[in-house]
Parts: sequence; structure tokens; C-alpha cells
Amino acid sequence: MSGKVAVVTGGIGGIGTEICRALSQAGYRVVACDTPIIAEQFAGWRQERQAEGMDIAVYGVDVSSFDSCREALQQITTEVGPVEILVNAAGITRDTTLKKMSIDQWRAVLSVNLDSVFNMTRNVIDGMLERGYGRVVNISSINGAKGQLGQTNYSAAKAGMHGFTMALAQEVARKGITVNTVSPGYIATKMVMAVPEDIRNKIIAQIPVNRLGKPEEIARLIVFLADEQTGYMTGANLHINGGQFMEH
Ligand code: NAD
Repeated sequence: MSGKVAVVTGGIGGIGTEICRALSQAGYRVVACDTPIIAEQFAGWRQERQAEGMDIAVYGVDVSSFDSCREALQQITTEVGPVEILVNAAGITRDTTLKKMSIDQWRAVLSVNLDSVFNMTRNVIDGMLERGYGRVVNISSINGAKGQLGQTNYSAAKAGMHGFTMALAQEVARKGITVNTVSPGYIATKMVMAVPEDIRNKIIAQIPVNRLGKPEEIARLIVFLADEQTGYMTGANLHINGGQFMEH
């Protein structure tokens, strides 16, 4: 049990919850960060984890705001400890064709999915560099690599996340810090299960493994990347999509 502090943004979401669970089970002191807009869900979520035997703190953070991230990370460092693992998993979609996309839909998706990675990582990197250790994992998407119609905003933001990963990985590689991207395909979260069954079945038909992914399967990969012994993997984009998209 390492006891290292792991911060997960979008921590109370579908994939985020499983990442928090898996990191907690692996012995990390986990902090879930999520938008203050859903603050009324925090206590209930925390109680559910407590009933499962896990003590996971929840902090309200708007990842699209640099100041909100800075303040929350200062508070977390004081109250829980220095952040050694950061998982950037907060994300939103505002899907529509470019012809119909408003500037607000573009900005919302870019700021929550991409600016957030700067806002969070910038506020933990100095501490990681000082201590000579860190793990940063950015949750991108299959659609950041292959593009998806109706998602110019989301595909651009998710592709941008991996550009950030590759650049930062090179900057901090000698200091014991790894930076990686995880790009999930279609995962059976509430968002995907809300898609009408016939459309969902058409999506599944395009997946060689012939099913949606499970949030637990993403979480296993995060635990692997967070491990001290995974120090030789950095700047990678790990595709986990049931074979739907294969990159060489
Ligand atoms: P989700 O909606 O369940 O979780 C996203 C979380 O981000 C939510 O808890 C939400 O409250 C939080 N969030 C939104 N705006 C925020 C803000 N401004 N500040 C802080 N938190 C904010 O979705 P999910 O399916 O669990 O997705 C998690 C991540 O995985 C996202 O980045 C998503 O793009 C990515 N992803 C999901 C799938 C999938 O099939 N579900 C596939 C590929 C990638």
C-alpha cells in the first residue's frame, strides 16, 4: 500500500468513479474532484464509497477555471498531502455538425476537456518536479485519434490532450515523472447506455470484441500507469477500445 495521493478529475462520473475505486483498492489516498454544479451529489457518493470500505475525499473544482484548480490543489496539498498522481478524466460533449456549432459549444468543450489539463497539471507539476516523482494520466478518446462526425470540438480537444502529453512527457522524463494518454472507445457508462438500443447495437457491431467496454477495464489501466514500476512508459497513447480503432 503506497499511500500516495491520487487526484481524479471528473471523479464522481461513470469512468471517474471506477478509477477512484481501483486506485483506492490499490492503496492510494484518493481525492475525487468534480464540478461544484453537482455538489449536492458529493455527500451521497462519498457515503456509497464508505459503505464499500473506501474513504475518498471529494472536492468541488471547476476544471475549466485555472483559479479554481489552483485553489483546490492548494487545499488538497494542505489537507491530504502532496499530489503524486493526477488523472485528468473530466470531460463533456456538445455534439453537432460544424455547420450548426456555436462558439459557446466549441469553447465549453475545449475548456472542460483541454484547458483543464493545463489548469490541473500546471498546479501540480512544480511539486512533482521538486520531489522527483509523478504520474499524470490524461483520459482522451478514440475520437481524438480517428475523428467523429458531429464532434469537431470534442475530437480537437481530445487530440490536443495527447499533444500535451507528448510535449510534457519530454520535459519531465528525467525527473521521475511520466505522462501518458488513455484513449477509451465506447464504454458502458450512463452516457452511452442512454443512447437508444438500436443505435447502440449499430455501434457494437463496429467493435471487434462485440461489446461495450467496462469502466473497470479503463480503471485497471490507470492503476497500471500510476504504479511506481511503470516508469519506462511515458508519452504513450494507450488505446482501449475492443479493437474498434487500431493505430500503428
Ligand atoms: P461522465 O459524464 O460520467 O463523467 C465526466 C465527469 O466530469 C462528470 O462527473 C462531470 O460532472 C465532470 N465534469 C464536467 N464538467 C466539469 C468541470 N467543469 N469541472 C469538473 N468536473 C467536470 O462521463 P464518463 O463517460 O465517465 O467520461 C469520463 C472521461 O472519459 C471523459 O473525459 C470522457 O470524454 C472520456 N471518455 C468517455 C467515453 C465513454 O464511452 N463513456 C469514451 C471515451 C472517452
